[in-house]
Amino acid sequence: MIYTAGWIVTQDAARSVVENGALRVEGALVSEVGPAAEVLARHPGEPVRELGEAAILPGLVDAHTHVPMSAMRGAADDKALFAWLNEDVFPREARWEPRLLRAAARLSFAEMVRTGCTAFYDMYMLQENVFAAADEAGLRGVVGENVVRFFPQLGGATRDALFGRIRDNAAAWRGHPRLRGAVAPHAVYTTDPDTLRACRDLADEVGWQFGMHMSETRKETADCLAERGARPIPYCDSLGILRGDTSLFHCVDVDDADLAILRERGCVAVHNPASNMKLASGAAPVERLLGAGVPVALGTDGPASNNAQDMVREMWLAALLGKLASGDPTAVCAQTALDMATRHGASAIHDPLAGSLEPGKHADFFALDLRGPGMQPVHNVVSNAVYAATGLENRLTVVDGRELYRDGEWLSLDIGEVLAGARELREWAR
Ligand SMILES: [Zn+2]
Repeated sequence: MIYTAGWIVTQDAARSVVENGALRVEGALVSEVGPAAEVLARHPGEPVRELGEAAILPGLVDAHTHVPMSAMRGAADDKALFAWLNEDVFPREARWEPRLLRAAARLSFAEMVRTGCTAFYDMYMLQENVFAAADEAGLRGVVGENVVRFFPQLGGATRDALFGRIRDNAAAWRGHPRLRGAVAPHAVYTTDPDTLRACRDLADEVGWQFGMHMSETRKETADCLAERGARPIPYCDSLGILRGDTSLFHCVDVDDADLAILRERGCVAVHNPASNMKLASGAAPVERLLGAGVPVALGTDGPASNNAQDMVREMWLAALLGKLASGDPTAVCAQTALDMATRHGASAIHDPLAGSLEPGKHADFFALDLRGPGMQPVHNVVSNAVYAATGLENRLTVVDGRELYRDGEWLSLDIGEVLAGARELREWAR
C-alpha cells in the first residue's frame, strides 16, 4: 500500500519533512519514503490511499501509563497524591475483576488509537488482561507488571505467587510480534532493597525490561534520604538495578549527580506533564536531562491522573510546561516535543524500529487532517501538530502496516462493546 499526503514528517536523523510525499508499506515495515511523484512512478498499479491535505507522522509512543485506570477517570480529582491513592484508588483496586480490568484497558486503547498513539509502556496489575486487550487492539507495547513490598496484593498472595504469574505471562507472550513485558516495581517508597533486587533478577531471568516510578516528588526524595540514606536514584544505583533496559517514570526531582547516573547507566527518563501539573508534583527538568545525554520520552500517566490518553495533547503540554518552568521561551520547542513523543519514545520501549518513518522501520504512523480552520495555514507542520492540534484531527492510525482506525471507524476494536464496557465500569467505580 502507498499512502500519499501533503506532508510526511519522517523524524529521521535530519528531521526531513517531505512535501507532497508518499509512504510505501510492505508488510509490517516502511519500504520507501519520498516525493509522491517518484514513489508512484516506481510502483505503477499498486494500491494507493490519497490523504490529500494531511500530515503523516510516526505513531506517538505513550511511554508511561496505567491503562486500566480509565475506569476511575473523573471519579476523584483535585486531591493530593497520597490522599487520592489511599481514599479513592486503592479501595477500588481491591475490588478488580479481571473481565472489567480488561474492559478498562480496551477503553484506553480505543482512545489511543483514536488520537494517533501506536505504542505504549504500561504499568499495572493482573497484566495478562492488558496483554490480551493490547493484542486485540493491535497496538505495540511494553506491558509492565507492578510489584510492591506488601502482600497479599492484587495478582499474588505472596511474592512467590506474583513472580510465578509473571513467569507464566512471560512464557505465554514470548515471541509476540508487538508486545513485550517489563517487571515494574512501583517506586522506592512502596518497595524495599530486597524486593527491588528480586525484581531486577526476575527481569533478567525472563528477559523482560525494567521500569519504575522515580523521583516524582520532593517528598519522595526527602523520605528516601531519611529511610535509605540516599536520594532515590543513587539508592537504586547502589542496588545495581539501573541498566540500559530501564525506563524511569517522572524524574521530576533530579539533581546533577542523579543525571550523571542516568547517563552512565543508559536509562531513559519519561516526562508526564499533565499528571505532574494536576498533582502539583513539579516540572521535570527536560532540557537539563536532554543536555546531559539522557533520552526523555513522554507519557500521559494513567487516565485517572491526566485525565486523557491523548499524546498530541501531551506534546502541547510538554512544550508549554518546559517554558513556564524554566522561564525560557526557547525551551522544549515543538520539534523537541515531537522528538520526545516519537524517537525518545522508541528508546523508552527499547524498540529501535519505532519512532521514525524510514525504510526498514515499523509501519507505525498516523495522519493529521489539516483541512480544519484550526490547522490552517500550514507554515510549519510540526508547529501545527504540537501547538494547534488536539489529537482529534487524526484520521488514520496504522501499526505494523495494519489500519486500526480510519475516518471515524475503529477497525480492530469493537467500539460499541468498548463503550458498553465503560458504562459497566461506571457502576463498578461507585
Ligand atoms: Zn504512573
